[in-house]
Amino acid sequence: MLRFDDHIAVAVSGGKDSLTLLRVLRKLEKRFPRATLTAVTVDEGIRGYRAEAVKLAKKSCKELGVDHVVVSFRELFGKTLDQIVSSKKELSPCSYCGVLRRRAIQMAAREAKANKIATAHNLDDEVQTILLNIFHGDAKRIARVEPVLVDPAGRFLQRVKPLCEIPEKEVALYAYVSGIEFQTCPCPYLETALRNDIREMLNRIEERHPGTKFTIFRSMERLRDSLKASMARTELRNCLRCGEPTTGSVCEVCKMLDRAVVA
Ligand SMILES: [Zn+2]
Repeated sequence: MLRFDDHIAVAVSGGKDSLTLLRVLRKLEKRFPRATLTAVTVDEGIRGYRAEAVKLAKKSCKELGVDHVVVSFRELFGKTLDQIVSSKKELSPCSYCGVLRRRAIQMAAREAKANKIATAHNLDDEVQTILLNIFHGDAKRIARVEPVLVDPAGRFLQRVKPLCEIPEKEVALYAYVSGIEFQTCPCPYLETALRNDIREMLNRIEERHPGTKFTIFRSMERLRDSLKASMARTELRNCLRCGEPTTGSVCEVCKMLDRAVVA
């Protein structure tokens, strides 16, 4: 996942996972003089929620001596998530947020001249997503959710998930033991439906059959390659509106923002 001379943009939300990841990567980075870290925080514009997290992220970065970049939906896309969600109802808030946040992190990481993006998804996140995609019947996504995402054409920065094999409980324990101050209140838009049921189900099974989460994760590692080999390769082209790489003619971000054609 990581090389000695990487410039890693770490996506830091201010929660326990991302602040743990930042701390661990900072420890590692000190041993590699040619490696660089930049923390990236996205302010989606969620009233009464995001401000505290940004503050905690800033504090941690300062303590650790890591450069910190904060970008906002408002400055990048002209609208806050609250504004988008109140005017659009076709998708869940998490769907809008996920697509826009990924773009925001890519933009901020490129701007910082990073060559890699690290996100703090833990084992529980990964296994929940695997099952969620199976429950939704979304085969393409099943293959796409992986710990190391590389775009062979180099148009997207490589994305890595260094905590993908660490159970959520252990990440939380590390955060507490290290005295990390993190945001505990959940996002007001938190998807409560299916993911929550899957989380509870997995925790129940894990309790009675320890190791289940790892087993699901490993099964998917083995299945992914054959799944990918059976899928047609998707070619990327430039979005007609914003110029960012996309599989169609207009990218998801522009579709969500109803951007006017500029070119
Ligand atoms: Zn676009």
